[in-house]
Amino acid sequence: MRRPLPTPTSAVVVGAGIVGLSTAWHLRRAGLDVTVVETDRVAAGSSWGNAGWLTPPITTPLPEPAILRTGLRAMFSVTSPLYVPLRPDLDLVRFMLGFLRHSTAAAWHRAMQAYIPLNQQALAAFDELAEGGVTEPTHVAEPFLACFAGADEHRLLMEEFDQIRSAGQPVTADLISGDEVRAIAPAVSEQVVNAIRLDGTRFLHPPHYLESLAAAVRGLGVRIHERTVATEISGGTPSSPGAVRIQTDSGEDRLSADVVVIATGAWLGRLARPFGVRMVVQAGRGYSFTVPVEPMPRVPLYFPIQRVACTPLGDRYRVAGMMEFRRPGEPLDPRRIDAIVRAARPLLAGADFDDRQDEWVGSRPCTPDGLPLIGPTRSPRVIAAGGHGMWGVTLGPLTGRLVAELVTTGRTPDVLRPLDPLR
Ligand SMILES: Cc1cc2nc3c(=O)[nH]c(=O)nc-3n(C[C@H](O)[C@H](O)[C@H](O)COP(=O)(O)OP(=O)(O)OC[C@H]3O[C@@H](n4cnc5c(N)ncnc54)[C@H](O)[C@@H]3O)c2cc1C
Repeated sequence: MRRPLPTPTSAVVVGAGIVGLSTAWHLRRAGLDVTVVETDRVAAGSSWGNAGWLTPPITTPLPEPAILRTGLRAMFSVTSPLYVPLRPDLDLVRFMLGFLRHSTAAAWHRAMQAYIPLNQQALAAFDELAEGGVTEPTHVAEPFLACFAGADEHRLLMEEFDQIRSAGQPVTADLISGDEVRAIAPAVSEQVVNAIRLDGTRFLHPPHYLESLAAAVRGLGVRIHERTVATEISGGTPSSPGAVRIQTDSGEDRLSADVVVIATGAWLGRLARPFGVRMVVQAGRGYSFTVPVEPMPRVPLYFPIQRVACTPLGDRYRVAGMMEFRRPGEPLDPRRIDAIVRAARPLLAGADFDDRQDEWVGSRPCTPDGLPLIGPTRSPRVIAAGGHGMWGVTLGPLTGRLVAELVTTGRTPDVLRPLDPLR
């Protein structure tokens, strides 16, 4: 297929989360003149307070049949790990209906086929950034442990792993005893009777990683305009060819570029909708905080029944959880923090849950079919890059690489075809 447009030489990326910054890095390395526009500051969104897991073996679509079996009952309770407030919101209704429609075995299997080739390349994309000057390391999880307080509780997760394997993605996991868990992470309480040990994962320190990525991006000569809201994108359509214009609230002149990448996470819908992106991107809000733990675990811990995710962050341990389908800008609800504390305290004996710092709420950008939206919109010059839900950190650097390939070659890489933002 021939490129319909001249090769772009300039780009504006909207959003300075892991997806936007990785995209800026790759576009700049490909020789484009790149500007990033960010409402607040680098990593103001979901890319700051997340669990920092890089877990391709378990990077899977969120809508799945178990949600229908276990999730619906708990959905409307404020202390449940999955919470949907009862309020009139048309987008939320559209999202929930689409989400439930995709929570079938067949839909999960289809979506999983789209994830597999992405997962195969996800960690290498971090190595590429490291080789190119991102100094903050990623750490191999030795190992990643999913811990259980009931002897049979591991079965559901093992069944999920079987499904992932039968979809064609390898998962190396085995069951170890509670004592073996405590030999690795002595802060885990006696209540934990066994754990699944998962290989092939890494983790990172999200705030440090994003700072390091932003420094590398700036070092390449990319301008990052913080505290600048992109309010409107125009042009670049068949009826108005030429540069794409980005209106901002900063009072500066309008920005313009050959290509604009919308990497605005849970806010993607507002700028992308006028370009034909109809799929709802719903905020799946999660909470986190850090605590001191004695002795400090060196590995990430997951408590799947409680849906609590933990990660070493220097000398403190980040504890994260909850999936709350509300608007991204709503304030932090302390009841969710309390619910995470109540769920995790009995299992993590060495943690001081009263010495919490960095309490945070952020929005996973969730789509009804559990797949990201990456690719050209109705305009080949306006690219959407978002909607990664639970897995935007794992897949952020790879997304940047694929978007740059699309922009510089004018061809959509095959792995992006199922992620068409206009689907
Ligand atoms: C509790 C929790 C734990 C998680 N754990 C993990 C994990 O372990 N591993 C994993 O892979 N993923 C995890 N995630 C998901 C991951 O954090 C997200 O998928 C990812 O950060 C999304 O990145 P992003 O760059 O698309 O969006 P964001 O990081 O949200 O960035 C979007 C940016 O766009 C800016 N913006 C929005 N609108 C505009 C505008 N109009 N103009 C200018 N700027 C704008 C925002 O301010 C924001 O900075 C977790 C999420 C949560 C909430």
